[in-house]
Amino acid sequence: MKNRSNVILEEYDNIKEDKLNYDDYVGKGAAFIVTPTNAGQIFSRENLSEDHELIESSAKEFGVKRILPVNEELNKLNKDLTFDIFREVGELGFLGIDIPEEYGGSMLDKVTACLVIEGLCSGKNASINVTISAHSGIATLPIVWYGNEDQKKKYLPKMASGEWMGCYALTEPNAGSDAMAGEMSARLNDEKTHYLLNGQKIYITNGSWSDVCVTFAKVDGGKYTAFIVDKDCPGWSTGEEEHKMGIKGSSTTTLYFEDCKVPVENVLGKVGQGGAIAFNGLYVGRYKLGAATAAGSKSAIKEALDFANDREQFNRSISKFGMLQKKFADMVIRAWEADTIVYMTAGSIDKFLNNVPHDEKYFDVLQKSIEDHAIEASIAKIIGSEALWKNVDDGVQILGGAGYIEEYGFAVLYRDERINRIFEGTNEVNRLIIGGYTLKKSILEELPIRNMINQCKTTSWVNRVEMDNVELQESCNIVEFSRSVVLFTLDELILKYGQDFKNEQWVLEPFADMVICLSLMDTGFKRVRQLDVNSEKYKNMKLVMDACVYLRFSELINHSKDIIRNIDRSGSPLMQKLNNELNDLVIEKDIISLKQEIANVLYNKKEYFLD
Ligand SMILES: Cc1cc2nc3c(=O)[nH]c(=O)nc-3n(C[C@H](O)[C@H](O)[C@H](O)COP(=O)(O)OP(=O)(O)OC[C@H]3O[C@@H](n4cnc5c(N)ncnc54)[C@H](O)[C@@H]3O)c2cc1C
Repeated sequence: MKNRSNVILEEYDNIKEDKLNYDDYVGKGAAFIVTPTNAGQIFSRENLSEDHELIESSAKEFGVKRILPVNEELNKLNKDLTFDIFREVGELGFLGIDIPEEYGGSMLDKVTACLVIEGLCSGKNASINVTISAHSGIATLPIVWYGNEDQKKKYLPKMASGEWMGCYALTEPNAGSDAMAGEMSARLNDEKTHYLLNGQKIYITNGSWSDVCVTFAKVDGGKYTAFIVDKDCPGWSTGEEEHKMGIKGSSTTTLYFEDCKVPVENVLGKVGQGGAIAFNGLYVGRYKLGAATAAGSKSAIKEALDFANDREQFNRSISKFGMLQKKFADMVIRAWEADTIVYMTAGSIDKFLNNVPHDEKYFDVLQKSIEDHAIEASIAKIIGSEALWKNVDDGVQILGGAGYIEEYGFAVLYRDERINRIFEGTNEVNRLIIGGYTLKKSILEELPIRNMINQCKTTSWVNRVEMDNVELQESCNIVEFSRSVVLFTLDELILKYGQDFKNEQWVLEPFADMVICLSLMDTGFKRVRQLDVNSEKYKNMKLVMDACVYLRFSELINHSKDIIRNIDRSGSPLMQKLNNELNDLVIEKDIISLKQEIANVLYNKKEYFLD
């Protein structure tokens, strides 16, 4: 009898090799998997317009002049100061970037939203950033996207100006990563005028400060539904502030709903539509978190370097030691990877939306495009949060004992960064998304992955694409080789598990990491390819890209071999092909020299130098 995997297998064998037009994939999610190094354009900081730069510099100025001087005060719970700053951010228009103009916002593009977050990060305070981001992202977006006219008029102008603060309450004691397992109930009263909400939500950012809350409950025990609860709804109360490891200046509380009376007109979207509403906002939160953590990764470099330049041991500056130079080079590479993936993602969504008319269907199309970029959003979240984690950890190490002492500044960063790998979907859940969506896009042929898999069975993986610029040829070969390895490994996994691959976490996680590696190599390569070869930026960025390609390639190959050995297809013809092709791939990069050169440039520039 045929099982599901066999049916998929037969479909695989029947695929024809069509000629691909890569322009068809511009603005589409996961295009990096299939678009070769010599085709397609990606968005990067080099493509910022004057307007982009203006708004970024005004957010930066606010961060430096208003937030930085009161940084320490914002690391403790300080409602008055937080609200003063929150409202000033509103007056500057930064809370309304994603809100249409008719409701008090400016409806600018996704790149701008990321730039504003990065700009505000120059205040170097994670607590206020979390407060602002939770409000303007997950709390506001569901109303922008799913609210009806009355709801938008009532809530959005106040949320754009900062008069009202919002929160988003999804997590429950028994429903964290498994959010849909929520038990909060909603029952229509006899008069059919109000829903009565009963249950609790935990760990809610802005919990005790919010005037309005987007939350979720099951209507009649089953239909998962979103509600807007505001101060006028009786029966809503907040618990004590949680004592947290970090971001201590932000509010995090439990919300209790006891027969909380919510007017029927406050149902957000339709009854039963809560799942989509809950998840769609999170995709945006993920790439925005990527922007915030990329910014933190960059500033950690300068903080650590300033210290290293001052500190002497063994009669010389500690910055002269090779082991510290290597750490600084790694920090630059990580920050650059995070930056590159965030702006590619936001720019790709913007590219798609540029051609969409602003009619009543606009937000439906926008959500589809954002969900289509789920893989990139999860990569941005993972890579940003892991870059910040490692950069801060390296920073503590560079400072030595001082890294452990509060007054030097890294101790608070160390505590604050930890949350980024937990909220907005844990990094494990985001890896599940990357693996699962890659499988889905392949099976549903949203991308020509199957077609390409067939090509990589029959053609050589080495020197597939020729670059005019010979300096880029080696990295180009490695990126294209990596693309074949990702496709070939996916093929082996589908042959073994069919669609059940999405449940095989021991192999799904390393496969997701392969996709992450490919995205960084491919996007980074294209960013450099688009630069003027005579510019200083090209010279400096090429060093970092070459190092990224080398390091991510080693990681990718190891994951691939681990997977193939584990699923016992080590004797398969494709495994033989991987080994044969690897023998033909020439890699002459000297990673130690590359990192030395990166550290040298950093020491000259004295801060992250690739913005
Ligand atoms: C400071 C802070 C602020 C927060 N703000 C908000 C907010 O504003 N609104 C809100 O709704 N929530 C908020 N949260 C909650 C946060 O989103 C959750 O904590 C997070 O989603 C994880 O859920 P959990 O804590 O129940 O952990 P669990 O889901 O119990 O996870 C525990 C571990 O199991 C792993 N795991 C779970 N499922 C799987 C799986 N299928 N496969 C592999 N591994 C898995 C996780 O990755 C994790 O390592 C906040 C939390 C904190 C700490």
